[in-house]
Amino acid sequence: MTKVRTRFAPSPTGYMHVGNLRTAIFEYLIAKHNNGEFILRIEDTDQTRKVDGAIDFIYNTLNLCDIKIDEGPNNKGEYGPYIQSERLPLYKKYAEKLVEDGHAYYCFCTEERLDKLRKKAEEEKRAFLYDGHCKNLTKEEIEKKIKNGEKYVIRQKMPKEGISEYIDTVYGKITVENKLLEDQILLKSDGYPTYNFANVIDDHLMNITHVIRGNEYIMSTPKYNLLYDAFGWEKPTYIHVSMVLGEDGQKLSKRNGDASFMDLYNDGYIPQAIVNYLVMLGWSPDNNDEIFSMDDLIRLFDPKRISKSPSVFDIKKLNWINAHYIKKLELNDLLNITVPHLKDAYDLSDKSDEWISELVSIYQDHISYGKEIVEVTDLFFKDKIELDCECREFMEQDGIDNTIKVFKSEIENIDDWTIENINSAIMNTKEKACVKGKMLYMPIRIKVSGQMHGPELPDTIHLLGKETVLNRLK
Ligand code: GLU
Repeated sequence: MTKVRTRFAPSPTGYMHVGNLRTAIFEYLIAKHNNGEFILRIEDTDQTRKVDGAIDFIYNTLNLCDIKIDEGPNNKGEYGPYIQSERLPLYKKYAEKLVEDGHAYYCFCTEERLDKLRKKAEEEKRAFLYDGHCKNLTKEEIEKKIKNGEKYVIRQKMPKEGISEYIDTVYGKITVENKLLEDQILLKSDGYPTYNFANVIDDHLMNITHVIRGNEYIMSTPKYNLLYDAFGWEKPTYIHVSMVLGEDGQKLSKRNGDASFMDLYNDGYIPQAIVNYLVMLGWSPDNNDEIFSMDDLIRLFDPKRISKSPSVFDIKKLNWINAHYIKKLELNDLLNITVPHLKDAYDLSDKSDEWISELVSIYQDHISYGKEIVEVTDLFFKDKIELDCECREFMEQDGIDNTIKVFKSEIENIDDWTIENINSAIMNTKEKACVKGKMLYMPIRIKVSGQMHGPELPDTIHLLGKETVLNRLK
């Protein structure tokens, strides 16, 4: 049986939005589910979008997500180079072969001529398709033009009649009328291939068996299949996946500043949780489980269960999943994703490492992502706390002043500031003020923290320190 090989083929733009990453995860899972190989190919044929360091960035992202690359620019492999700009002679060779065999042709049309055609199409309110002007140039005419130094592109010669169809794993049968297929450019005048050409050449030469990619390519795939046919090559299995939309229903992109993996990571989201969430975005297992390790995913992943409809990136759901992972973190890892944010937000110069660790650890079950530590702990860093309506209303009840008074004198009497002694102070207040449950804890909590909810009360009081607590009880 042929080995399953999938590839992730990002453009090196130095940015990865979660939709792209999700595609990479699907590609990885399909390869690994079948004991296959996962290849990284850099699609840098649009040199204007290239960013320095982008390849390292891609490696770093995949590495953080525990996606292991079998072959790629920084890995060994038999099918390199894995960067398209290093493969230019290959594309030229194959494009010329197509010309020789009558499946493609040289086109010398100038930008001005094409612009005119485009304008005309616009005026007539129809889609622009290249008119085949250069399709029937003679060999002599072509040679002469090349000798004269005229710039040319190589275009694919499309059939003008009939239909083309193929089966997509997710979307089923896809059919297009051939007359709608443009004689698309395969090789540009600067010698670079277009995506439309390079993807076919590379997927074939790299022995890719399953092409998983965004569904923006679903209707162009018949054109790619015509290329496979022209070369007499076997076609891969196609798995087109729906888009990931922002909550505004728009496509996620760098422009709308949405959900890039690195932004999430820098905000203290855990890569494994992001992976877990992204897989569930447009895919579901055959039960109701929602938390999966990479090994679970590799075992369970079935591309037939990928959904056709677009998915919406829902930060609340991601928060829920991430909180689940945060609860399981070792303290050190938790500190790593929280303390830098605390340092950015607050002056920690008079706080000991123990104090910071204690603070972070009592909030472990209360935060969904690392940076959230800042807002939930602000009560430890501000001089004055303001009570909201609900708190004020609660504090207006009878007997509360007395509870606070009793508690305050209990606190004043503590010499050794330990959680145990603080706990005893609360218990003594219970006896002396004759209150229990909510009427005991809530007034104290509100008075010292300004909030009705939070971590264990003695822990909070301990961290606030005697002086602050007494000040707030005044
Ligand atoms: N470079 C293409 C993109 O980023 C890859 C599409 C594909 O996977 O074939 O959209």
